[in-house]
Amino acid sequence: MDCIFCKIANNEIPASKVYEDENVIAFKDINPVAPVHILIIPKKHYESVLEIDTEGNILNNIFKVAKIIAQQMNLIDEGFRLVTNTGEKAGQTVKHIHFHLLGGRDFQWPPG
Ligand code: AMP
Ligand code: ZN
Repeated sequence: MDCIFCKIANNEIPASKVYEDENVIAFKDINPVAPVHILIIPKKHYESVLEIDTEGNILNNIFKVAKIIAQQMNLIDEGFRLVTNTGEKAGQTVKHIHFHLLGGRDFQWPPG
């Protein structure tokens, strides 16, 4: 499958990895929109949250890693945002589920 995030997970193309375990990888977004902008993905390909088996461990794994990275980046006290865009209207451009971990600045709510 021609998926850029599968290729990153398989080490076929380079990325600035900040975390890796058996199931999950996290790397710096190539086009950061905040001082901290990390993408957290399952190594296994799922197009979006709509394909995730909610009974399984995938989301647990992702949230566990989000917490680890937030701690590493010193974001626990000041706060951070964790976002997964799903489908066209939300602006999902890469069809391999990913969670944006954003921090280091103020964020608007509701989002634009
Ligand atoms: P989304 O718009 O939610 O699908 O987010 C996709 C994100 O992937 C964007 O923020 C891109 O900057 C980022 N991105 C695309 N290609 C790469 C890459 N090769 N390495 C790191 N980040 C990437
Ligand atoms: Zn993929």
